[in-house]
Amino acid sequence: MTVDRRRLLAALGAGGAAVLAGAHQAAALGGAVRRAGAGDAPSVDAWPTRARLLAHTPPNWRALRARLGSRLVLPADPGYAVYRLGFNELNDGQRPAAIARCTSPADVQACLDVARGHGIPIAARSGGHSYLGYCIPNGGLVIDLRLMAQVHVRPDGTALVGAGARLIEVYAALANAGRLLPAGSCPTVGVSGLTLGGGIGVLTRKYGLTCDRLAAAEVVTADAHLRTASPGSEPDLYWALRGGGGGNFGVVTQFTFKTAPAPGLTVFSLGFPKGSSAALIGAWQEWVAKAPFELWASCQVAGGNPSTPRLVGCYVGGETEANRLLDRLIAAAGVKPSTRSVQPKSYLDAMKYMAGCSNDTLAQCHPVSEGGKLPRESFVAVSRMLGPHPLDAGRVADLMHGRTGVSLLLDSLGGAVSQLRPDATAFPHRTSLASAQIYASATPGTKKAVTRTVDEIRDGLARLGATGAYVNYIDAGLPDWGQAYYGANLGRLKSVARHYDPDRVFAFRQNVAFA
Ligand SMILES: Cc1cc2nc3c(=O)[nH]c(=O)nc-3n(C[C@H](O)[C@H](O)[C@H](O)COP(=O)(O)OP(=O)(O)OC[C@H]3O[C@@H](n4cnc5c(N)ncnc54)[C@H](O)[C@@H]3O)c2cc1C
Repeated sequence: MTVDRRRLLAALGAGGAAVLAGAHQAAALGGAVRRAGAGDAPSVDAWPTRARLLAHTPPNWRALRARLGSRLVLPADPGYAVYRLGFNELNDGQRPAAIARCTSPADVQACLDVARGHGIPIAARSGGHSYLGYCIPNGGLVIDLRLMAQVHVRPDGTALVGAGARLIEVYAALANAGRLLPAGSCPTVGVSGLTLGGGIGVLTRKYGLTCDRLAAAEVVTADAHLRTASPGSEPDLYWALRGGGGGNFGVVTQFTFKTAPAPGLTVFSLGFPKGSSAALIGAWQEWVAKAPFELWASCQVAGGNPSTPRLVGCYVGGETEANRLLDRLIAAAGVKPSTRSVQPKSYLDAMKYMAGCSNDTLAQCHPVSEGGKLPRESFVAVSRMLGPHPLDAGRVADLMHGRTGVSLLLDSLGGAVSQLRPDATAFPHRTSLASAQIYASATPGTKKAVTRTVDEIRDGLARLGATGAYVNYIDAGLPDWGQAYYGANLGRLKSVARHYDPDRVFAFRQNVAFA
């Protein structure tokens, strides 16, 4: 599908009638671009020569404003201080030149027509949860999709989901229609970034990754064309969007998902005594690998002296069967849990439980971003992928010894994920047992030391055999990132990126084209 390009350009005043950008906007842009090489922001040096050569003038923000009105937010505008923020407070130093709050694919096309070819970074933002703030490029244009958050469930069970929707909005709308989509746990994560990188969650083993449920996507590519990616249309793009990582191939404006009927679920949370990490990790690896697809469980270790493990998860089915499976794990680990909670829940209540907002109304669980109140965190996190063979549990536990304030989250895969071949979609980790995320709170003052600690654990896991990494836990310090995120799919992904974005309009430091 292609929107009428001529009408769009005419509306923007492009092709000879361009209006010069306001002086304060040009100054703001110049300053921001100069700052872009510093700190954690993607460096302008990462931009390909061709894009830099095109950078004669700043983008014509006035033309974009003529289209978007107050939905184009520049540094001097009210709201900029809030709209420029991402979820991770450690990225607060990043100052985009402009934020375009789009309400339609045509707005996205207009953004590209105005900003492309001026040597500034351009990135889409949906939920804003990129660990490294790649959605808010310093000195660049944020194509903000948060106003495009509609969810429509059709009678056949497919769901049309706007790219700006957060998970809790998707869950609430689907639950209303008696349907489910397997996706992540945090209510404010955007469906876009999550899906494009894979999408791991509590229903993954039974229903697959979120990207496995993608039937089609509407995408504005770097040439500002609106395309449909599906099995029958742009099949390479469709393949790449299912696990190839956000920001690499274009701006998705809408997803079509295959949903499933929502059954009753059982959620559980078990605490185990300090010092039992090795026993639990060892038993959990064997147990979860052989468990029915209906069971999903995350083995989580809080670092300390000694470390403390716990288990949280979800079973697609009733309490009795869930308890039976848990008893098996407890017997295998040989450790009695200190706390045990097993509760039947509806789909929506289970999603709220996993999101940590069980006792909240949907409105409280829902992100509030308009009035300056943003639920945010300040953290460093990195990852590896476990399996297919179990790791030496004692040595994994040793990695967490003395690491107070650091968590290791082992989220099970396998099940339906393993039913597809590693090259069936761009997500390559089909034989992995679990993703391993190492997470710690950090402030700007502690960031360096905390990063060193989580990196040590990540590298320790790699020495034990966990070599891959999950692109959605994007990691600035991962030495082998292209191979780790994409494995044998890397080459094909690079050619898809080159085909759809030959001039690297969507360049950022870990764009797959640079791997
Ligand atoms: C608190 C928290 C909990 C999480 N829980 C889970 C979990 O349970 N399971 C899991 O799998 N992951 C989880 N994640 C990781 C999450 O999937 C990634 O951070 C994901 O990239 C976030 O997507 P977003 O839309 O919120 O972020 P954004 O920052 O908006 O986007 C992430 C990347 O995708 C690009 N992008 C965004 N929108 C689009 C679009 N429409 N088209 C093309 N590119 C786009 C951005 O430019 C950026 O590079 C969690 C993250 C956090 C911070």
